[in-house]
This record gives sequence, C-alpha cells and structure tokens, in this order.
Amino acid sequence: MTLQEKDSQYLWHPYTQHKTSKTPIAISRGEGALLWDENNKEYIDAIASWWVNPFGHSNKFIADAIYKQLTTLEHVLFGGFTHEPAIKVAEKLIEILPENQQKIFFSDNGSTAVEVAIKVALQYFFNKGEKRTTIIAFENAFHGDTFAAMAASGISFYTQAFQGMFIDVVRIPVPVKGEEQVSFDSLKKVIQNHNCAGFIFEPLVQGAAGMVMYESESLAKLIAICKENNVLTIADEVMTGFGKTGKTFAMNYVSEVPDMMCLSKALTGGTIPMAITTFTQDIFDAFYDDDINKALFHGHTFTANPTGCAAALASIDLLQTDEMQANIRRINKSHLQFQKKIESHPKVITARTLGVIFAVEIKSNTEESYYGSMRTKLYNFFIENGIVLRPVGNIVYILPPYIMTDEQLQKVYKTIEEAIEMV
Ligand SMILES: *Cc1c(COP(=O)(O)O)cnc(C)c1O
Repeated sequence: MTLQEKDSQYLWHPYTQHKTSKTPIAISRGEGALLWDENNKEYIDAIASWWVNPFGHSNKFIADAIYKQLTTLEHVLFGGFTHEPAIKVAEKLIEILPENQQKIFFSDNGSTAVEVAIKVALQYFFNKGEKRTTIIAFENAFHGDTFAAMAASGISFYTQAFQGMFIDVVRIPVPVKGEEQVSFDSLKKVIQNHNCAGFIFEPLVQGAAGMVMYESESLAKLIAICKENNVLTIADEVMTGFGKTGKTFAMNYVSEVPDMMCLSKALTGGTIPMAITTFTQDIFDAFYDDDINKALFHGHTFTANPTGCAAALASIDLLQTDEMQANIRRINKSHLQFQKKIESHPKVITARTLGVIFAVEIKSNTEESYYGSMRTKLYNFFIENGIVLRPVGNIVYILPPYIMTDEQLQKVYKTIEEAIEMV
C-alpha cells in the first residue's frame, strides 16, 4: 500500500470532507521554503505550513537547540516546579512585548491560548464580584476550535453545529476605511447593552477570514473605548506574531496597549506545538489572594514543556538577527511591487500587503463561499504547479517563510498571475 492508501484507511484530517476531497499529499521531506512528496515532487511552501514556519523547514539552528534540551531535560511538570528554559522565554518575551505585559502563561496551541484569555477575562470580574459575562468579537473573526475560542469565532460553518451551546458573544463589524464610526458606535452600543468582560480581536489582519486588513488607528480607538468602560482587551496575535506584519507584533503599530495577548504559531518556528497567553500585572493581581478559589484553575499536562521553550528561544533569536529582519523587509518590498503590478488587472477586485502578508481578491460571477468551487479550482491549480497555497473562497494569499528566495517568490507570483487568467 502507498502512504496515500494507508492514510485513507486510518486517518481523519482537519477541515476535510473526506468524501469529496482529494487524498492528502504525503510529504516526506522539507528544507527551507521547499517540501518534497513521496514521489519526490517539489513544492514551494508559500503559506509557511499554516503560518508557523518563518525560518524554513528542518531548520538546523532550532533542531540543535531542541536536541540539546532533549538530552538535558525533555519535560518536567510545571505544577510546583519550574525550569530555566521557561524563565528565559518569559524574560525574552517581556523584553519584546508591549511594556504593560508582565505575566506569561503557557499552553499548547492557539486555541488554548485564546481559551485561557477568555476564561481569565470572565474570572477577572468574577473574582471582583462583578457580573460581566459577555465577550465582544469581530464579525468573521477566527480564534480557534476549542469551545470558547469557537464561540468567539464568526466564520459560520466552523461553528454552526454548535450554535446555542456557546458563552455569550456579541459581534461588531471590523472598521472599514471611511466608515470607522460604524464600528466605534457598534462597540459603544454593545458595551451599553451587555455586561461585557472582554473584547477579543485579531490585530490589523484577520487571517482565516482571508487576510482582511484594517487600520491601526481604528483599533487604537476601539481599545480606548474598551478602556473607558473597563472592558478587558485581548490581542489574538496567534497568526500576526513574530514578524508577519513587518514588526515583531501587530500591536507594535497600535498606540494603545492590550490587557492580554495570545501567541502561538510561529513561536517555536513550526517545530513544537506551544502557546502563550500574556497578561498585565493588574490582571494577575485579581487572581492573587489568600482564597484558593480565586486562582486560575487552568493547565495542560505539557504546560511550558522545556523542549518547546528551547525551540521558542532559538526561534526568537533567529527572528532578531539582522539577516532575518532584512528578509522580512525584502519580502515586503517584493509584495508591494507585485501588488502594484496586478491591482489594476481587470479580474482583480483588490490586492493588499502588510509585512510578509499579501492577499489578492479575484473577481467572480458567483458568490464565492469559503471552500467553494473557485477555491477548489485555484487550490488544485497551485498544487499541480508545485505551490502550496490555500485560497479562502476567491482570495489568494501568500504568507511565505521569511527565508524564501526571490526566485521562489517570483515563481509564486507568476503562478498566481496564471491562476487569475485561468479562473
Ligand atoms: C490559527 C489561529 C488560532 C488557533 O490556533 P490553533 O493552534 O490552530 O489552535 C487562533 N487565533 C488565530 C488568530 C489564528 O490564526
């Protein structure tokens, strides 16, 4: 049996309707921005394997750090114990995060980072004896697939089977240029009419919605409104964190600071699953008490896994090198040139760039759904041409590893241009 046949026999894949989907491609090897399948066909990984892999596949620097940690201390429980790798990650993050972020809580993936933030927002007010049970989120947000994260997510087919089983979430529109006031007014009204505990948002770029971008000034205003009303703000930087937007965090563009931040995806350079939720001292203090019931009763078996911490430290080191920062600027410049070239194409609705993130919306005669027919056609075309891209409906986006070469990037652009002609 081939790997593909065995896969069909045993495995259940994420976000996959197995009856209508093609059999998954078996990847046997990766290096830099490239992947090879079991038949040695080469692919350019133009989405950094779901946005986790900025420094390239099989990165030796991170691998060495992991090996060293594995042969020193692979894991120890974090309840009642601590270790140097966790402390070093915390020290490093506190140095590079917005200055009000003072406490670091580890978990395992983006969804759990969000789950922790939402639970903390709710318990913060519970601990203070205040009844605040509503979470505010953007329309079309994506915050993950565990229950509270799913409740905050607004992409309907991810969540429709579970409607009526969620915590209270009220949605506001993402600020649109020229019509920002609609979003501000909506937030004020929601705060007036509900007992709001927190507002969770993807800062500047809504990834899963199709790299939808909005202005930092509008986000600053929304955060300011929350602050005036004592509503906690949660910046979900699971996708945007660690350089994707051109700065270390998307929040570095925003003049207001959030109360909490969620990090994962690129945290360990795509090696070991790990996530972090960060907090202000004020939030930590609301749980600090003689009463054990006020503690945060949340944890995961692999919390602060030392091997994951070693991978995170190596990744942040790589991110901070001049070479990596130059790569980020190079890709951004290249994206802007490509954007200029194709935005006037008759079949293009709009194109946009922030940092290493590029997206183009292609005209369609029909309403394009998330996993609709145009998406399937585009996806298959890219795969046939040896490029890994996962369009969202009629939106094609690129989020390359920062080490992608100019030549590889040009091939991705050229294939996107061909795809636009094809559909
Ligand atoms: C991917 C993502 C998540 C969920 O992360 P997982 O590791 O897939 O659970 C949460 N928030 C945002 C913004 C994401 O892009």
